[in-house]
Amino acid sequence: MPGLEDLYREIILDHYRSPRNRGSLETPPAVVAQGHNPLCGDEIQVYLLVENGVVADVKVGGQGCSISQSSASMMTQAIKGKPLPEAQRVLDAFRRMMGLEVDGDAPDEPVKLGDLEALQGVVKFPVRIKCATLAWTTLAQAIDEVTA
Ligand code: ZN
Repeated sequence: MPGLEDLYREIILDHYRSPRNRGSLETPPAVVAQGHNPLCGDEIQVYLLVENGVVADVKVGGQGCSISQSSASMMTQAIKGKPLPEAQRVLDAFRRMMGLEVDGDAPDEPVKLGDLEALQGVVKFPVRIKCATLAWTTLAQAIDEVTA
């Protein structure tokens, strides 16, 4: 990953080597969504368990490059235990950071993305943006299923 700053590279590699919240959840009560990035061969399953409007648990399965897998790991950390609207705000903020279109205006108060900010350098590599956003696109599908 040339061009990424060392600190960011460290954060990404840490999540890649020790992914958080890996595994699966029983469906139902959880829902599962599948994501695939044919450009790179990344595959992701997002298991989402929402209870009383809160992300009670989230797990990720699949395989792929360090960007896709570390982004998924950071995503689980960023949304677990959060009320669904707050998880949605993180999702929107991350999409904005990656230069994707998001419905509605940006919130007045910036959303803190923590480790996820390590991925902002990926914007410089358009071919990798799909890697970084795969887990999030898949999460959006899972949320759609929950709220349907
Ligand atoms: Zn990839």
